[in-house]
Amino acid sequence: MVFKHLRYALMGLVFCGSWVQANPLDYALTPKEIAPNTWVVTGLTEDFTTQNGGNIVNTAFIVTQEGVLVLDTGPSKRYGEALRQVISEVTEQPIARVYNSHHHPDHFLGNQAFADVDIYALATTIDLIKSRGEAYTENMYRMVGDWMRGTDVLLPNQIQTSGQEIIGGHSLRFMAFSGHSGAQADLVILDETTGVLFAFDLVFYDRALTTPDTPGLMQWLEDIEALSLLDFKTLVPGHGEVTSSTKPLEQMREYLKWLDQVLTDSAAQGLVATEVMRVGIPERFSSVALAAQELQRTVSHLYPNYEDAFFAESF
Ligand SMILES: [Zn+2]
Repeated sequence: MVFKHLRYALMGLVFCGSWVQANPLDYALTPKEIAPNTWVVTGLTEDFTTQNGGNIVNTAFIVTQEGVLVLDTGPSKRYGEALRQVISEVTEQPIARVYNSHHHPDHFLGNQAFADVDIYALATTIDLIKSRGEAYTENMYRMVGDWMRGTDVLLPNQIQTSGQEIIGGHSLRFMAFSGHSGAQADLVILDETTGVLFAFDLVFYDRALTTPDTPGLMQWLEDIEALSLLDFKTLVPGHGEVTSSTKPLEQMREYLKWLDQVLTDSAAQGLVATEVMRVGIPERFSSVALAAQELQRTVSHLYPNYEDAFFAESF
């Protein structure tokens, strides 16, 4: 009898164990319609963890008369599959095209779920995914673990160029910028039909921007100025909430200028990198998640350039 109970207890444990394991690996994506036939799946403003599975990025889709356009595919095969599932719950239209905005892993590692359709990206982006994709994938396995199971690099197979295209009744303007990913490697899409600007990672909103590939903060600032001249009603950042205001652009502008000033002044004062990493974040950026952590990374990426520039000027 005791043995029998023990057996049931063990079965219960096994059952609970598998439930506990299966449940957290559900991305539970909830798309929100932000403009006619235009949906965004908003990610958390967090860093990659084994809890969030890399669901820290915004993805989007536009349902057109000629099928669905998918804008970024997320951080893993599992995410891509979940995204495709929620798209099929919103529309019976087939997937027409997929776009990868840039080469960072949270934006393209869901591509495998769309292996049967054309995947578009800027030529520079395709080159960067080719050269770095494997290393990014390995790193993602380390950072988010089991969520990545089965994820491999699937390269975009179509080159997207700048210019205007009419697809399924939507007039889309494709533009290449450089501030976040390097020379002409940041795709931005303006849907002139709905007024939605998909800025991708040129805009982080209430989440500190990341700098591993920026050619320079002033280049990025120039791109933000260019975006602010565009005629749009709704702004979709790569990370952070969708808004109908220009607040994200103002925040980007202020934040980039502050970062540049901190790095310039610190170099002039002869501070070492570890001192700059501890600079306090101004109160006006209190809503910006992960500002202190990203400052440390930014210092390691960019501070040597600022030190070099200071020495070149002084001697
Ligand atoms: Zn990025």
